[in-house]
Amino acid sequence: MDYEDKRIKLIERLKKRDILTKPSVIKAMLKVPRHEFVPEGAIDSAYIDSPLSIGLDQTISAPHMNAMMCEALNLKEGEKVLEVGTGSGYHAALCAEIVAPINSSNPGHVYTIERHKNLAEKARISLRKTNYETRVSVIVGDGTLGYEENAPYDKILVTASSPKKIPPPLKGQLKDGGILCIPAGSREWGQDLYIILKKGNEFEVEKVSGVRFVPLIGKYGFD
Ligand code: SAH
Repeated sequence: MDYEDKRIKLIERLKKRDILTKPSVIKAMLKVPRHEFVPEGAIDSAYIDSPLSIGLDQTISAPHMNAMMCEALNLKEGEKVLEVGTGSGYHAALCAEIVAPINSSNPGHVYTIERHKNLAEKARISLRKTNYETRVSVIVGDGTLGYEENAPYDKILVTASSPKKIPPPLKGQLKDGGILCIPAGSREWGQDLYIILKKGNEFEVEKVSGVRFVPLIGKYGFD
């Protein structure tokens, strides 16, 4: 079976579980070749619904988690997105496929921050190979500080677990009406995924489900 067949089967399974419902997210998951973002030794597992190691103790999330976060963010063409935790670059490519599809008359952009220089460099290579390099900017730095240069953002997603107190710069760099999707709670066990909607100076917080992410390390993260 080739990669495309495996990808289609994975997406059919996620649709059956009602994890994938939005046409824009389904289309993006069908388009982005996940196998180009996983380490060579794991290519045959690229379309299994499981997280995979990408080195330096970090993981590319399981596809159902990518799908859940993209759905929760309600991403739309033209939006400016900030991702904290580039890792493999796969999730950034998915977001870019939705906010900045090729030939869009109103393309958005994805800014993604990674604290490990090596991972950022590998992600850049994968993004180049898959033709997302002009739609995704990879920045090396501490994403708990957000990325003030291009703020405010329509949507922010964090793909590492924050302490209970959400990093204030991320809330500050969100547009009015914007959505922040972030796992928070603890370094390892006992994390929940939150959807935070900004309304003026108020934040509406919704807990989605229990999750397991690697820790968010940085000034407003863990040590
Ligand atoms: N979105 C990724 C999953 C990445 S795993 C993907 O699609 O593959 C989480 C990543 O967050 C790791 O690469 C880790 O190094 C990074 N990270 C942790 N704390 C960070 C911080 N403060 N700023 C930027 N990246 C961080």
